[in-house]
Amino acid sequence: MNIILLGPPGAGKGTQARILETERGMVQLSTGDMLRAAVASGSDIGKQAKAVMEQGQLVSDELVIGVVSERLDQPDVAKGAIFDGFPRTAKQAEALDALLSQKSLALDAVVEMKVDDEEMVDRVSGRYACGKCGEGYHDRNKIPKVAGVCDACGSTEFKRRPDDNAETVRSRLVAYHEQTAPLLSYYGPRGKLKSIDGMAAIDEVTRQLKAALDG
Ligand code: ADP
Ligand code: ADP
Ligand code: ZN
Repeated sequence: MNIILLGPPGAGKGTQARILETERGMVQLSTGDMLRAAVASGSDIGKQAKAVMEQGQLVSDELVIGVVSERLDQPDVAKGAIFDGFPRTAKQAEALDALLSQKSLALDAVVEMKVDDEEMVDRVSGRYACGKCGEGYHDRNKIPKVAGVCDACGSTEFKRRPDDNAETVRSRLVAYHEQTAPLLSYYGPRGKLKSIDGMAAIDEVTRQLKAALDG
């Protein structure tokens, strides 16, 4: 099964994608993670993406579509893809349709995570992650069971993203409403769209997500 998680920064896409990876053996395809890896490696793609990401704007469609196209050639995609943070524009959605049909893959569901913008500023500002395994945490909403120790891997090193500050989040929310929310009317008429309550607690969101995928 291949799915898209659609929602603004902070909606909980990455959190839920990791749960589906663990519980259903699917693979998370986060274009944000792919672009951050490119920035860290200092590649040409990374050099082009860095400043745009720091400003909370969208990286060019051509660049992102190229990255996704390459990723879809990896064999693990057969386990079922969870697109997290892609597509983000109409052009990307059209490119994804074309890529999937070229590779004989189907799109089974697009799940909209409905949330309030104001809460997203708080969620993103309080976000951090394990530096070793990437498990996501939040200063108040999701703290490690043992203070300072990752629940998933035991590491004691954590990291914050440079773009996870209140000012940049606001630009990212504007980008979401202007460029990504219109995808709801792209997927709606195609019969793929399901909506769940992203404001609920993490466990409840997982329950609704699974119900949407299984229903
Ligand atoms: P996204 O990938 O959509 O940008 P994340 O999954 O990284 O969002 O979640 C953003 C922040 O909010 C993280 O710090 C995460 O721990 C926290 N979070 C995720 N889901 C919820 C939820 N349902 N309720 C409260 N906090 C949440
Ligand atoms: P979040 O889930 O918190 O919105 P992401 O990790 O998905 O953050 O994305 C971080 C940044 O990477 C975005 O603000 C944007 O600059 C860039 N980016 C990620 N995915 C895309 C995409 N599909 N199209 C364009 N830019 C992207
Ligand atoms: Zn960890």
